[in-house]
Amino acid sequence: MIKSPRGTRDLLPPDTALWNFVEAAVRDVFRAYNFHEIRTPIFESTELFARGVGEETDIVSKEMYTWEDRARAQSEKTQSLTLRPENTAGVVRSYIEHQLGETGQLQKLFYIGPQFRRERPQKGRYRQFSQIGAEVIGPPSAGSESPLRDAEVLEMLATLLNELGITGWKLELNSVGSAADRARYNEVLRTALDAVVSSMCVDCQRRAATNPIRVLDCKVPADQPIIDTLPVIADSLNEASRAHFAQVLAALDAAAVPYTRNHRLVRGLDYYTRTTFEFTHGGLGAQNALLGGGRYDGLSEMLGGPRAPGIGFAMGEDRLVLTLLAQEAAAPQVLADAYIAPLGESLNAAALSLARELRSQGLRIELGDGSFRLKKSFEVADKTARRMIILGEDELQSGILTVKTFATGIQTKVPRTELAVFLTKPASE
Ligand code: AMP
Repeated sequence: MIKSPRGTRDLLPPDTALWNFVEAAVRDVFRAYNFHEIRTPIFESTELFARGVGEETDIVSKEMYTWEDRARAQSEKTQSLTLRPENTAGVVRSYIEHQLGETGQLQKLFYIGPQFRRERPQKGRYRQFSQIGAEVIGPPSAGSESPLRDAEVLEMLATLLNELGITGWKLELNSVGSAADRARYNEVLRTALDAVVSSMCVDCQRRAATNPIRVLDCKVPADQPIIDTLPVIADSLNEASRAHFAQVLAALDAAAVPYTRNHRLVRGLDYYTRTTFEFTHGGLGAQNALLGGGRYDGLSEMLGGPRAPGIGFAMGEDRLVLTLLAQEAAAPQVLADAYIAPLGESLNAAALSLARELRSQGLRIELGDGSFRLKKSFEVADKTARRMIILGEDELQSGILTVKTFATGIQTKVPRTELAVFLTKPASE
């Protein structure tokens, strides 16, 4: 038997109804905040992620699906391509390629789509997963650096989770400062680590040499007490970074968005500057991050573009759905409004036109088959629809149809002209 590859899964009804509910709700919220949708390719040149996300990160160093795309014609070059492991680099590439900064406007873009990482699969962690994300990016003259933008994005996320009915989320917040602040902090950390790193895990020993800040991502239990004694990044921030962060916090206080500060939140990607954040949820187990994001004021320039500060986030759609399922807001079985049962194969064509008529009036219709006996039609209809319409020769001639409502067991004679209105009544009537 051929199965879906490790780390991927099929989303089946009725769960897909929950996925659609999530996507519809987020689209409504994005609309209210005047975000517009962007769709970028699912694969990009490998170099984009190497430069944008960072060679030293786990994602780039070990989790990407990369292949050599061999030239098929003289006009083409062989190039290295990668299934996107995240979407911010792609959005910023697109921003640069289409010169969206030339408009002088702030670009507020959102996306929904699959991402790919070769991680060890577990609950809430897959090799193909779906992210819902958004980016606010633009030239500094459009206000893209304003702390108000950070606060607005965070307030939108709090609203979004509340709209979805997700309760018990927690917002953790930090500032990683400017590139210069981070460089300074890396040196402070390097010095502090000199004294203790020999008793830490091998990964930390490597990180201490290459990129000390990544030591803060370490999950090895024995290393945690050591990490707790290390200097915090807040003490390495310059005046401008401190002031920016203070204004973000003040705006969140004013908007009554609750948060906690987490000095260790430096996030796994190299492009972050200043504000970084995560929303977590206790119900998710080990993979407790619902979403993560932050500012990336230098990313456009890292990718060869103009100065274009920005802030964004990516939410794990799989984890949103898991959280909703755990809250017992499971997707209801969606039943059709009616099942049409033609009495005999000679009535199939008439049944198809009746189905068409009702569907065009916005009803959800399941079409039966005239080769079924009436008893079998009742059984199938009872599982898939709220009502069954019996269409025999008499009904076709008289224009009066027999409708059975399953919840009440009542059979009603309904004129064809009144059928659509009848079918939209609650099934308990
Ligand atoms: P990251 O870009 O790693 O911060 O990811 C942002 C969000 O995407 C996380 O908070 C998760 O909700 C989700 N996510 C990341 N990796 C995975 C994965 N392998 N499987 C499912 N969701 C993921």
